[in-house]
Amino acid sequence: MTVYLPQDTGETSLWGDTAIENPVTEKLNGNLQADVVVVGGGFTGLSTALHLAESGVSVVLIESHSIGYGGSGRNAGLVNAGVWKTPDYVVKQIGVEAGDRFNQALYDSPNVVFELVNRYQIDCQANQCGTINIAHKASAIEYLQNRCDQLKKLGASVRFLDGDTTQSMSGSAYYSHGGILDPNAGTIQPLSYARGLARAAIEKGARLFQESPLLSLEREEKGWVAKSESGEVLADKVVLATNAYSDRNSQGVQNSTVPVFIFQCATAPLPDKIAESIIPQRQGMWDTQTLMTSSRVDETGRLVMSSAGSLQGFKNIIRQSWMKHMRNKIYPQTKGLPWEYYWTGQVGLTSNKILRIQLLAPGVFAPSGFNGRGIGPGTVIGKHLAETLISGNRNEFPFPVEALYNESWRKTRSAYYEYGTLGLDLVDRF
Ligand SMILES: Cc1cc2nc3c(=O)[nH]c(=O)nc-3n(C[C@H](O)[C@H](O)[C@H](O)COP(=O)(O)OP(=O)(O)OC[C@H]3O[C@@H](n4cnc5c(N)ncnc54)[C@H](O)[C@@H]3O)c2cc1C
Repeated sequence: MTVYLPQDTGETSLWGDTAIENPVTEKLNGNLQADVVVVGGGFTGLSTALHLAESGVSVVLIESHSIGYGGSGRNAGLVNAGVWKTPDYVVKQIGVEAGDRFNQALYDSPNVVFELVNRYQIDCQANQCGTINIAHKASAIEYLQNRCDQLKKLGASVRFLDGDTTQSMSGSAYYSHGGILDPNAGTIQPLSYARGLARAAIEKGARLFQESPLLSLEREEKGWVAKSESGEVLADKVVLATNAYSDRNSQGVQNSTVPVFIFQCATAPLPDKIAESIIPQRQGMWDTQTLMTSSRVDETGRLVMSSAGSLQGFKNIIRQSWMKHMRNKIYPQTKGLPWEYYWTGQVGLTSNKILRIQLLAPGVFAPSGFNGRGIGPGTVIGKHLAETLISGNRNEFPFPVEALYNESWRKTRSAYYEYGTLGLDLVDRF
C-alpha cells in the first residue's frame, strides 16, 4: 500500500506578507572554511549561529530555501515555556536527573526569546503579555491545575485562573471553566523573529546563505565538508538544524520525526469593537480540545486561529469551514466574516513526544522532534549547543544526547494523524 504524505500546498501566509525584510540575499558560492557549519535557517539554526558568532566563533549557515521557510516562519507565534507535555511526563520518560535538567532549561525559555528580541531590537510584534492554556470543558480543569502546580514547582510564575476570569480574558463564553496564565510568555510575528535573528547573527559576523541546500556531508582529513549546489563549507563541527523540514539530503534526520501538518486561518483586521472584545489583553491562547485550537489577535486586529491538519485538495474546504464553525462557536461576534489568509506548516512528532538532540557522528549534532513547540526550545537549544560546541564540554549541556533515532511507520502514522483529525473535523461539524 502506498501512503502519501500530505503536501505543502504553497499557501501565502499572513506572516509572509507582513514580515520585516529578509537580510539574507546570497547563495553559497565557492569554498568557505568555518569552525562550525549550521544547516537550516529556522530558530534552532539561527540561534546556534547567533550565539556562536557572539562568542567570536566563525560560523556559516546554509538554508535550502529562505530564512524561516520551515516551521519557524509558519507557526502560531505563541512563545510558551517548556514543552508540550508536562514536566512530570518529561521526568517519567527520561528519568529524574535528566528530566529535571531538561525542565529547568526550558521553563524560562520565553524570557530567553524576549531578551534576544530586546537586545537586538527585533521588530517582530513581540508582546510579552502572557499566554493562556485554557479549558474547553470543566473536566479539563484537573489536568490544568496539575500542570500549573508542576510548573510552579520549577519556579515558573504561572497562576491558575477561574472561569469568570478566563471568560473575560478570552472574550468568549465558551471558555468559562478556567486556565493557566503564564505572564512571562507571549506572542511574536514568527517570520520577523527568524529574520531578526538572522540580521543579528550577520551583525555579529556569521555568514548566512539561502537557496543553498546541503547535498552531502562527508568527513575528510581536515574536517567535515558540507557540499551545496555551487559551493562547499569545510568545518570542524556541524549542526543539522533541519528538524521537521529535513529532506533526503539531511543525513537521515528526516526519519527521526513523524511529519504532521498544522493549519492556520486569519481574518482581515476586525472592526475595532469586535477586535477589542476578543482576548482584549492580547495573550496567545490554546485550548484543551483533542483537536487543539489556538487563538491570538495580531497587532492589526486580525484573529488568527490554528488546529491540526493540512489544507491539501478537498481538505482545504473542510478544514477552513470547520475552523469557521469553531470560530463562530468561540467568538460568535465574528460570524459571517471570511478568512483572508490560510496556510500550513509541518511539525515533527516523536514517539515519546519529547524532542531529541542527536549526535550523528563526533561533532555532528541534530536537534529534532519539537512536537509543535519550538520557538522557546529552538532558541534555547541553539544557545546551549553553541556553548557546548565552544567549550567541548557536554556535561553542561542540559539535554540528553542520543544517537540518531529512526521513527518507524512514519508515513502511516502521519496519514493516521491527517485523516484522524479530518474525521474529528467532520464529526464536530455535521
Ligand atoms: C503551523 C505551526 C504552528 C506552530 N505553532 C507554534 C507555536 O505557537 N509556538 C511554538 O513554540 N512552536 C510552534 N510550532 C513549532 C515551531 O514552529 C517549530 O518547532 C520550530 O519552528 C522549529 O524550528 P527549527 O529551526 O528547529 O526548524 P525549522 O524552522 O523547520 O527549520 C528547518 C530548516 O531547515 C531547512 N532545511 C531542510 N533540509 C535542508 C538541507 N538539506 N539543506 C539546507 N537546509 C535545509 C528547511 O528549509 C528549514 O528552513 C508550530 C509549528 C507549525 C508548523
